Amino acid sequence: MKPKNPIQKKLAQLPQVDKLLQMPEIEKLSGQYPRTLVTEIVREELEAARAAILSDSVHAPDFEIGSLISRVVATVEQRMQPSMRRAINASGIVLHTGLGRSPLSDSAKAALIDAAENFSTLEIDLESGKRGSRYVHVEQLLCQLTGAEAAMVVNNNAAATFLVMNTLSRGKESIVSRGELITIGGSFRLPEIMKQSGAIMIDVGTTNHTYLEDYQDAITDNTAMLLKIHTSNYKITGFTREVDLSALVRLGREFDLAVYHDAGSGSLIDLSRYGLPKEPVISESIETGADVVSFSGDKLLGGPQAGIIVGKKQLIDRLKKNHLTRILRAGKLTYAALEATLKLFFDESHLLKTHSVMRLLTKPVDQMKLLAKQLIQGVNRVSNGRISAHSEEGLSEIGGGSLATESLPTILVFLDLDGMSSDELSHHLRMSRPPIIGRITKNRVCLDMRTIREDEADLIIAAIETIAKGDI
Ligand SMILES: *Cc1c(COP(=O)(O)O)cnc(C)c1O
Repeated sequence: MKPKNPIQKKLAQLPQVDKLLQMPEIEKLSGQYPRTLVTEIVREELEAARAAILSDSVHAPDFEIGSLISRVVATVEQRMQPSMRRAINASGIVLHTGLGRSPLSDSAKAALIDAAENFSTLEIDLESGKRGSRYVHVEQLLCQLTGAEAAMVVNNNAAATFLVMNTLSRGKESIVSRGELITIGGSFRLPEIMKQSGAIMIDVGTTNHTYLEDYQDAITDNTAMLLKIHTSNYKITGFTREVDLSALVRLGREFDLAVYHDAGSGSLIDLSRYGLPKEPVISESIETGADVVSFSGDKLLGGPQAGIIVGKKQLIDRLKKNHLTRILRAGKLTYAALEATLKLFFDESHLLKTHSVMRLLTKPVDQMKLLAKQLIQGVNRVSNGRISAHSEEGLSEIGGGSLATESLPTILVFLDLDGMSSDELSHHLRMSRPPIIGRITKNRVCLDMRTIREDEADLIIAAIETIAKGDI
């Protein structure tokens, strides 16, 4: 027999696909994940090894079964992990849109699971057995909590503003202050939403100064609505003047115009009672006389993504009749989680324990110090001196288009790894399992104790151990 050339020799080392599939590690993988996927990845890995040999037989490393198997395992696991998965919020931003805004409370979680695994009474009237309305599940609760006559729920607050404008102001004028023409996130721009809804926007005043007369002078026979938009994510300071809701309500009554308050995040309770910055309280807007008020379900309310609209029955009835509601409607999971979240507000004395967002917003500094200590000890234990950690006092944002201009005292744990830039370190943290989303302050990586849960400390320490070992 002729001696084989180096290429043939190396190619001959590669095992058959079937043989690989029979290796115990790969068999085990096939038990956990779809066999076809495992086979496909085994083939891909062998193909890659073959290609490497053919392109550079001299430098191609000798075939090693162990490293091929671990690559197959890693690739299968990576492809099968959910694209959207849990993450650890170490950013300090309580309502972080990128991280899914508010975490749900325990009772909402239980309601969600119940709705997910069973049939439900979403749209059936049990008395008559006939088709019912999905709005009933939360309407009464919302009316009790806000003092409004009627309520409804849509997909999110952007949908709510769209529905209100389309129903009450299509082809007609809505007057809004130039100081309140907000952009939220990348894609919610009030003038655009108004245009798409068919409402005619009449913007009055200037960025920093708007008077009641500005609204009044703009009223014509074709005016339908006066708008008050909560400037959730910016603050105009200095030489400023804005018209408050009560003055707009008086003007609206005088000229028989609807007054709509987009409260943005809004809150069902007065946060200033807990030492937090005040946000519009929905019941106060209703009491002041706003005809329609809308707000988000997943900002300070702490529920699922939803847009909640409350107000005068006659107007809410018109909104409900708009065929757009079929497009903008919320699903059963939303109703389940929302109803449970709303019920928490009937017992305000327990809210700080039962409500996830309130719990984070009012987290005591002592508790954060304890968590910081636990983390630092853990890092020192596992990182072999490669990563240094120390804590400092700092500020966390509330964020998420609500109270974005406000910050709360917090405890930060700074992490330093010799020879690694802060960008690299925060990238490693993001690529951990689960991903850890910290922030960079003063060019250093830090973890904000406000948004980290106590039971997440061990996960963070384990991730840091992996990073310190250079295994990532
Ligand atoms: C956040 C916000 C919106 C958009 O609400 P989503 O629930 O994100 O759709 C609209 N208006 C204001 C004032 C907001 O703060």
